[in-house]
This record gives sequence, C-alpha cells and structure tokens, in this order.
Amino acid sequence: MKLHILGCGDAFGSGGRNQSGYLVEAPDRLFLLDCGPTTLLAMKRAGFDPQQLDVIFLSHLHGDHFGGIPFFFIEYLYQNPRHRPLHIAGPLGTEKKVCELFSLMYGSGSGARDIPPVRFHLLQPDTSYVVEGINVFPFRVPHQVQEISLALKISCNGKQILFSGDSAWTDVFLEHAAKVDLFLCECSFYDKGVGNHVSYLNLQENRSRLRCKKLILTHLGDEMLAHRKEIPESVAEDGMVVEI
Ligand SMILES: [Zn+2]
Ligand SMILES: [Zn+2]
Repeated sequence: MKLHILGCGDAFGSGGRNQSGYLVEAPDRLFLLDCGPTTLLAMKRAGFDPQQLDVIFLSHLHGDHFGGIPFFFIEYLYQNPRHRPLHIAGPLGTEKKVCELFSLMYGSGSGARDIPPVRFHLLQPDTSYVVEGINVFPFRVPHQVQEISLALKISCNGKQILFSGDSAWTDVFLEHAAKVDLFLCECSFYDKGVGNHVSYLNLQENRSRLRCKKLILTHLGDEMLAHRKEIPESVAEDGMVVEI
C-alpha cells in the first residue's frame, strides 16, 4: 500500500505547499484522506486518473480540507463523466456543506441531478464503519468548538494509518497510535501556544509515549518550517510517496 502526499500544507499555503490531500493506493482501492482545493491538480500531477478514486474521507469541514471537492464534481460532470458513485464520508454536515459549496461555485447543486453520482456517509465519532471495503474508526479531536473535527484511523489491506486531521495535541492519540503502521500527525506550529493545533514542542514531550511504527509530521506552518532542519522526525513533502 502506498500513501501519496498530494498536499501537506496548511490553510495558508505555507512554504508554497498544497493544501490537505493524502491519496492512499491499495491493491484494489484508491481513496483520499481530505480534499483541499489543490487536490485534483495534484492527483493529476501524480499520474492518477480521478475516475479511479473510490472514496474521499474528510476529517473536518474547514476549506483547506474539503474545498477541493467541487473540482472533482465538475471533472466528473463535464471532463471525465463518472457513472459509478463516488463515496464521501465525513462528519456531521458533510453532505450539506459539500452541496452548498458546489452550488456557490458552479451552479444550483441542490439536487441529486446537479451533482455527479455521489454517496454520502456520515461518520459519527467512536463508531466503526466500512466504506467500500475500507475500515474507518473516526474519533473526535480538539480543533473546532461547535462543529466536529475527526481524526481517522483507517484499516485497509492489513495496514493501519492514523490521520490526526487538524487538532491540538490530545492523549487520545496515544491509544489510537499504538501499533499503527503510520501516524500522520499535524504539526502546524513549533512552540506557539495555539489552542487548536499541535505544536512541535508539545509533540516532543509525548514522543516517547507514541508507539506507532512510523510518524510523519504534516500541515506545517511557517514557524514550523523555519525550524525544519533541527527536527529529527520525518516531515511530509508534496509529492512524497510513503510505502506502508
Ligand atoms: Zn487545516
Ligand atoms: Zn482545520
């Protein structure tokens, strides 16, 4: 199984990085973790036909994490017509927000006929789901106040990936990261005391307690990028391919 990092940037495009988009290539499945605005172009640049995409899993409904979906919709409506459903799984509000965003950007988008074939799946925290043969266990993380932000623990093809989404550090990661093949953990800041994102110094305090097989830091902001050379952990890069 391979993870193609299509976008590892934050909302501000820090360091010229694409926004959130991680493509998992399993033997018989192709799926995204998040779909930021730059995801379709990055997927094409990586040599994938968007028709191959089976599922988009969304961690939360901030624009840098789901704002790329309308581009997939117009691709499937006009450029590369899609007949089998695309599955989109995300937290409460996903279907409404995706349809509203598409409507704002490209048309009415309010009815089933206005969008390509899509099946929406609601992900409730602490519940296991199987979407197109891919197991996902979402759990709530501290990032948004009213709306629900999820971390996603994915099991596919005998491998496990934990994706933090956007979140402050929480000890809940310790339990879910145990034994996973890859923990893709956001690390937006180095030492800034921002309450809803991980800072590196905070992560470092907990590093010895993390029992994942591999850790990759992502969603880096400018402050974190300035400290990159001092950091021993693996840091995501756009275009990076990780064998899992
Ligand atoms: Zn973000
Ligand atoms: Zn966010």
